[in-house]
Amino acid sequence: MTLYVSSLLIACGICLFAGVHAVLAGTTGKREPLNQAFGCLSLLLAGYLLLAAAIYQADALSLARQLIRLQLTLACLIYPAAVWFLGLYAELRQRRRWLALASLVFGALLVINLLSSNSVIYTQIIRDHAIALPWGEQVHDFAGRKSKLFGAYFLAKDAIYVFATGCCIALWRRHSARAWPLTLYLLIQGLAAVHADIVNRSGTQMVTFEALAFLALVLLMGDRLRLELSQRATLLTHNLEELREETRRRQQVESTLRHLAYHDPVTGLSNRLALRDHVQAALAVQHTGDHALILLDLDHFRIINEALGHDVGDMLLKAVAARLLAAAPAGSLVARHGGDEFALHVGLPSGTAPAAAAREIVRGMTATLTAPYTIGAHDLAVGVSAGIALLPGMAGDVDSALRQVAVALHRAKASGRNTAIIFEQLMQAQADRRLLLEKGLRLALERDEFELHYQPQLDARGRFVAAEALLRWRHPQHGLIAPGEFIPIAEETGLIHAIGRYVLHQACLERESWAAVHADARVSINVSPWQLFAQDFVRTVHEAVNTTRTMPRNVTIEITENALLHDLEDVAYKMRELASLGFHFALDDFGSGYASLGNLKRLPLHELKIDRVFVEGLQAGVRDPLVEAIINIAHEQQLFVVAEGVETGQQREALAELGCDAIQGYLICRPMPSAQFHHWLDQLPEPVDLPGR
Ligand code: C2E
Ligand code: CA
Ligand code: CA
Repeated sequence: MTLYVSSLLIACGICLFAGVHAVLAGTTGKREPLNQAFGCLSLLLAGYLLLAAAIYQADALSLARQLIRLQLTLACLIYPAAVWFLGLYAELRQRRRWLALASLVFGALLVINLLSSNSVIYTQIIRDHAIALPWGEQVHDFAGRKSKLFGAYFLAKDAIYVFATGCCIALWRRHSARAWPLTLYLLIQGLAAVHADIVNRSGTQMVTFEALAFLALVLLMGDRLRLELSQRATLLTHNLEELREETRRRQQVESTLRHLAYHDPVTGLSNRLALRDHVQAALAVQHTGDHALILLDLDHFRIINEALGHDVGDMLLKAVAARLLAAAPAGSLVARHGGDEFALHVGLPSGTAPAAAAREIVRGMTATLTAPYTIGAHDLAVGVSAGIALLPGMAGDVDSALRQVAVALHRAKASGRNTAIIFEQLMQAQADRRLLLEKGLRLALERDEFELHYQPQLDARGRFVAAEALLRWRHPQHGLIAPGEFIPIAEETGLIHAIGRYVLHQACLERESWAAVHADARVSINVSPWQLFAQDFVRTVHEAVNTTRTMPRNVTIEITENALLHDLEDVAYKMRELASLGFHFALDDFGSGYASLGNLKRLPLHELKIDRVFVEGLQAGVRDPLVEAIINIAHEQQLFVVAEGVETGQQREALAELGCDAIQGYLICRPMPSAQFHHWLDQLPEPVDLPGR
């Protein structure tokens, strides 16, 4: 039974396996120095154990000599490798120095070993008696005469064990879990050394276990390293999990942020940014065919919002958004462009003219949107104005596409709302001018660029009864600009309030400058609906007459029918308050809007101004039933009737026949600046009776 030799060979196999495993364990990814050192050490120990087994089995002395020399060569490699490994294992700061020292000493011994005929520690090797082991196994034994370096070699070897013990102490000091396996190994190795010493001293023929003790080193250290590796793997898996969780959380936050960035919080539709990206992408792709960008605006939404509150406004916007989404053609993008504006980007079917196709789509959408809404207790109807930009058209980029569609929408709103208008190149120049005016308008008051012109009204007998104040803007570059062009801008930008105060004040001043003969004449002042809706309207008017010492009975406030479309009660209340102070109220442009005659009864009106369009067609001697009816109804309500835009004598005569109370128009004179108007007043001819009155 070759138990001893077999155990050496088995130990060799285990070391070989552990060595290969440790070396390979570090080959993927980052190489672990500790594993590499352990692997090298284990492989060297495997070789050492194999040679030990071979020596015990060697028959020939010459072979034994070679094997012993080879074994010592390996030993000279093993001890520096052990220093390398232990230095890393104990995480010594000076480990490189220790390794260098060990390499130097054992390197020298190794060279001498290779050069000497027997080995570094023996000058002569002879065969000893074979050793018979208790279990019947017999192994060869060899003895040698000590060389001069014998003592040095064993001293160096013992120094390595001292070093190992030092490492062990360092680990214990640090309370490292690595201390235990090293301690255990050193104990085993120590026991084996003591046993070998006893055997050597007693001279008994016995095998020693010093080589076999290396197996303890490989097994104990290997186990420790494996444990650490698996702990690290667990930690790594855990970290990986956390990292994944973190990534998932971040993605969630990112997607929420992205949603917020690209969606409108009120309606949930895509927002302006998303629309931009979408249109940009569509414009970037060549040969996509025709497409259109459509901007839909709810007419007078601002008034609903202000009158019924933002909650109702928001609910209306949501309802509009839902209808838009439902009605939008497949593949189109619906977005909230801001405020009460919605955008639709849509591909147009090929084969039809793009303009016709876009108009058809808008017609469908408008029909859906204008059906009545029930929001809470309110039944609401909205009008829709639409601007259309046909793409790619002239629009090279998304900015010009958006500009074009905005210009078209603005046009649609200006042309009486509830219409759709397709962008044309000419509109751009007009839009540019508008933008210029908008900028200039903010400074016009400060720069004193406004002036009032006055146009007189004469009664049927030719007597001067009133003058209407008409605003002009003397623009430094563009000359005199008519109110029709800038008043809408002032209304949209809210500047109308400041401008309106200026007009009230200036017109009252003018009225006070008239001669005493005109004591009963009034100044007519145009007031925008937005001024009327303002909370402080009554106070503003009051202030104007107070600071200028004007009599309220000399002031007529002209309001338009639009002012009556919303919250009639509020407007009527303010009017009554002012009327009780003596102010007169005139309903301007009558017949051009939607005001019902029924509404007139509920308002403290004194005067009705017939719109120019009715006057245009009048001819002397030819009856106009509509104008006749208007005048009759107005008279039934005790209203003073003024006809506007009277340009011809024929018209004047026709109006006189119908019993119109006063006329205003180019026939008498055009609106004039204050100085010129004064001159006109001075030259006023004696009143004459007009025919038919
Ligand atoms: P409106 O109140 O209907 O004023 C009458 C407009 O008809 C004036 O135009 C006047 O110049 C013009 N007109 C007078 N007689 C004739 C005529 O015989 N033939 C023709 N074709 N036109 C005639 P204007 O001055 O351009 O004012 C336009 C509109 O601007 C006014 O219409 C009024 O609504 C508004 N507006 C003028 N001044 C003010 C103001 O101070 N405040 C506000 N809110 N609106 C104003
Ligand atoms: Ca007027
Ligand atoms: Ca008018």
